[in-house]
Amino acid sequence: MNYMHRIDSNMPPLQHSSLAALGEFGLISRITSAVSPGEGVITGIGDDAAVTSLSPGMQLLVSTDMLVEDVHFDLGWHDPSRLGRKSLAVNISDIAAMGGIPRWVLLSLALPSDLPLDFIDRFMRGFLGMAAEHRVALIGGDTCSSRSGLSISVTVMGEQAPELILRRSGALPDDDIWVTGTLGDAALGLKVVQNGGTGDDYPVSRLLDPSPRVSAALALAEAGVVTAMIDVSDGILADFGHIAEQSHVGGCIYRDDLPLSAGFRSHTADLSEIPYQLALSGGEDYELCFTAHRSNRKKIVDCMKKSGIAVTRVGIVINSPGVAVLCPDGTRYEVNSDGFNHFT
Ligand code: ADP
Ligand code: MG
Repeated sequence: MNYMHRIDSNMPPLQHSSLAALGEFGLISRITSAVSPGEGVITGIGDDAAVTSLSPGMQLLVSTDMLVEDVHFDLGWHDPSRLGRKSLAVNISDIAAMGGIPRWVLLSLALPSDLPLDFIDRFMRGFLGMAAEHRVALIGGDTCSSRSGLSISVTVMGEQAPELILRRSGALPDDDIWVTGTLGDAALGLKVVQNGGTGDDYPVSRLLDPSPRVSAALALAEAGVVTAMIDVSDGILADFGHIAEQSHVGGCIYRDDLPLSAGFRSHTADLSEIPYQLALSGGEDYELCFTAHRSNRKKIVDCMKKSGIAVTRVGIVINSPGVAVLCPDGTRYEVNSDGFNHFT
């Protein structure tokens, strides 16, 4: 595979040495030189293990995610900088979904030897830019060569006081189901790029450069109003389904209450039917789905107003298992697929 041809054509010609000439340790020092010292980092990159210190009374949250070329991303439309941002963003989103404060990250890369150094520089600029935005410190990782495409593995660590950590398992019957932001944009964005659309479109930017909802999640955790929370990476139907399963409850989602962006509506305006399937089952929105007792409605709206993130009540938790989507007339809306699933 020739990576020179697969990344954006505006890329300046390669002036410096190749990855092969730089070598593993050259690359690690190049990465290290771009990293600024982080809070709570006692020993960062360079030793056999990193050493960090948790803030007093906090517990450690750890999560990891892999991004594999041609499974999770296509270099035809993921430019290196946004790929770097996204590979950290999706991991930070998992810490946010627990109500945690993201703090440290490990980055492991399997790199094809013909990957241009400029690609890696841009990737790292994106990655470290996202890290700086969330005050997350890169404290280590691993680097090796790959014979079949680029793989990125990110492990993020965060912390939170034990009583503020939010799990999938706490939803109770009659709780409201809420979601931040809008749904279906990233899935629509994927359709747009697959049809040759450009990266400046709102749905495409949601796909390529997602924003983890850290401040909204922290505000919710601190308000003490949420019974269960998850980030929406595989569509609300599948992801609320995880809350339902782990909380031993079910739910009704009101189809016409699903929050759709203006960009989503304008893209789909010429269709006879709104593609609710995308909003219900499309992946990669990285919004938060959470449940809370109805007595907390005002608190939730006020608290989200403060963090500048829209929030919408989209359904209700019920006693019996299963998740149904309801039309305004009370009939069931049939959904074809319940989220992205590898291996199917
Ligand atoms: P080891 O042989 O003990 O695995 P390495 O030579 O792989 O050590 O790594 C040396 C140091 O560089 C370690 O601190 C490791 O965490 C860090 N490191 C390796 N690859 C990366 C990377 N891609 N990003 C950040 N740090 C890295
Ligand atoms: Mg190693």
